[in-house]
Amino acid sequence: MRQHVIDQLRREGLAGVWTAEVCERAGYKCEYCDNDMLASVDNYLSWELDHIIPQSAGGDHTLENMALSCRECKVRFKRSWNPVYVAGKDANREELIFAVRGNIEKKRASWFRCLSRHREIVGWEESE
Ligand SMILES: [Zn+2]
Repeated sequence: MRQHVIDQLRREGLAGVWTAEVCERAGYKCEYCDNDMLASVDNYLSWELDHIIPQSAGGDHTLENMALSCRECKVRFKRSWNPVYVAGKDANREELIFAVRGNIEKKRASWFRCLSRHREIVGWEESE
């Protein structure tokens, strides 16, 4: 983590205490889908901090249990899903995030089947 970047973001009021560290650790990408949070205004406005193990499931409010997430991943897909169910209770942060990514990919794939069928029915074609 680049401490001078964290300090500058805080000085300019662009990130709160934890947000700066979480974002810097994540490389400014959603830790669940790699969405680049600096690529557009829409992405920039969709930054969220997520408790990897939800607080409702006993997850700590600590930097270790925080992940940078886009709003779609957090609100639409992950929600209060607990990665401990898949990764196990002794899993480390990396293993928990890997479990979340897998869960979200499954949900996205399921929605992609709906989207594909919808496209088929309406005769949608990608515009150039
Ligand atoms: Zn995401």
